Amino acid sequence: MGTRAPVVDHGPRVGTRVALTFDADMTDGMLANLRGGKVRSYANLRILELLEREQVPATFFLTGKWVQRYPEVTRRIAGNPRFEVANHTYGHAAFTADCYDLPRLPVDELAADVAKTFEVIAPYGGRQTRYFRFPGLCHDAAALDALAPLGVTVVDGDVVSGDPFAKAWRPLVRAVLDHVRPGSVVIMHVTEANAAMTDEALPHILAGLRERGLTPAPLSEVLAGA
Ligand SMILES: [Zn+2]
Repeated sequence: MGTRAPVVDHGPRVGTRVALTFDADMTDGMLANLRGGKVRSYANLRILELLEREQVPATFFLTGKWVQRYPEVTRRIAGNPRFEVANHTYGHAAFTADCYDLPRLPVDELAADVAKTFEVIAPYGGRQTRYFRFPGLCHDAAALDALAPLGVTVVDGDVVSGDPFAKAWRPLVRAVLDHVRPGSVVIMHVTEANAAMTDEALPHILAGLRERGLTPAPLSEVLAGA
């Protein structure tokens, strides 16, 4: 049939709006780290506090396992009228071969994984979307074919902050502000222990956007060129 889930990197290059997106990864290994006390948290509440305080719109790509581990934080995100929620798979497995070191899901399980994640997220209400982001942004024709029946739009992004396992905040600020333009989709993480510099970078990123006349907006509005 040639039916394939559409993929977008950014919205129309018009106006002043940009989308700040935050991925909420969660794997069984991360859950084990939490249980064993190896890490304190994969939910960066300082990011939420800043976005709430400054009334900044944002979009959160949630894994099902993250939602199940952090139901209260999920409620807080979904309850914010400025935030949209989207799908980042159930357990952050790879949807293609050779996707970093992530274990791979078989192709015939991809659609069920994503559908299950929507079922986990949906009860939280708020601004639900059919946006989907692949772990590690890894996708191929087979993965896009598999997800077509779900009616998702795959959102990669055109500005990669590089925040996973960052050791300093300045490179993140530079990575974002050097590449951001009207319609951009900025990729960051709300995973705290795995992205420990994001909350320190964020105030500087917001200030830099203001200086450039750019305004954060929900992903749906940025993609619509509203
Ligand atoms: Zn991810």
